Amino acid sequence: MPTTKTATATMRVAQISKPGGDFEIVEREIPKPGAGQVLIKVQACGVCHSDVLTKEGGLPGIEYPRVPGHEVAGVVHEVGSNVTAWKVGQRVGVGWHGGQDGTCLQCRRGDFRNCQNAKITGISYDGGYQQYMIAPVEALAAIPETLSDVEAAPLMCAGITTFNALRHSGALPGDLVAVQGIGGLGHLGIQFANKCGYKVAAIGRGSENAVLAKKLGAHVYFDSKASNAAQELQKMGGAQVILATAPSSKAMSELSDGLGPNGKLMVIGATFDPIEVTPAQLIFGSKSVQGWAAGTPTDSEDTLRCAELTGVRAMIETYPLEKAAEAYARMMSGDAKFRVVLTM
Ligand SMILES: [Zn+2]
Ligand SMILES: [Zn+2]
Repeated sequence: MPTTKTATATMRVAQISKPGGDFEIVEREIPKPGAGQVLIKVQACGVCHSDVLTKEGGLPGIEYPRVPGHEVAGVVHEVGSNVTAWKVGQRVGVGWHGGQDGTCLQCRRGDFRNCQNAKITGISYDGGYQQYMIAPVEALAAIPETLSDVEAAPLMCAGITTFNALRHSGALPGDLVAVQGIGGLGHLGIQFANKCGYKVAAIGRGSENAVLAKKLGAHVYFDSKASNAAQELQKMGGAQVILATAPSSKAMSELSDGLGPNGKLMVIGATFDPIEVTPAQLIFGSKSVQGWAAGTPTDSEDTLRCAELTGVRAMIETYPLEKAAEAYARMMSGDAKFRVVLTM
């Protein structure tokens, strides 16, 4: 019997209609993919702290109503014209990198991650807090068969960010790598760092995370409330890399003294107040501070493949799309263990 797509051509969407507005669950017509675009049937979408930018209007030029969500896992439902490399039924993910212009200087250099006109999923266009979404092919990553949608979703931002930062940090197997913060990013950072063959020091506030950190793959755990974590790292020879995931500039500043020679503070926890390091701290020992944001869809595919090969998985709490407001509040509370994922 032929299915009548037109009879059910609406979808449920969790949108924000103005900066600072609440989530609204509304019905919309299912859109058609244009040239170079696909329509994705969303199966799961992670709730990331950066969704606050859409919710509160944290970036200039966001058009409302807007649907947040840049940790998308789903299936290609329909392809637009000029789409040759993606097929209906194929499993795909969409992350923070929502596409590039392909023409700016950085794109011409092949550095799509830093495209001057890069689109951000859920900010430049509607993201994954909905049953169907349109995405340009530049934003698509293939999802391996063995990862479920719920497992894949948080790897599209939290996963790629930690994995990509670590693999570009310069740390080599056997090096001491500290992961600051046992949260949404940190609990993935510890796992990836372990699987990369680093000696992993996890640094959290309080003793309650010690058992979990070691279960995730940390070789040692330092409670920054009870001990001076920078000194503890120095006792181990100093960290080659400190992956700073918890959004506290003060904690990052304090920990920078734990870097060893040629060590790097790799910053992925986004804050807006300054990290304080003195020139002398950087000069003696040739130390550095670097930031890192997510990556391109091929970086996402590497992340997913690495997770598939090594068993790295996010710890997840799921909520149905209808409870997007509750899911977002749970994420914002900081109490989620550790990634919140919407299911459609
Ligand atoms: Zn994110
Ligand atoms: Zn560009």
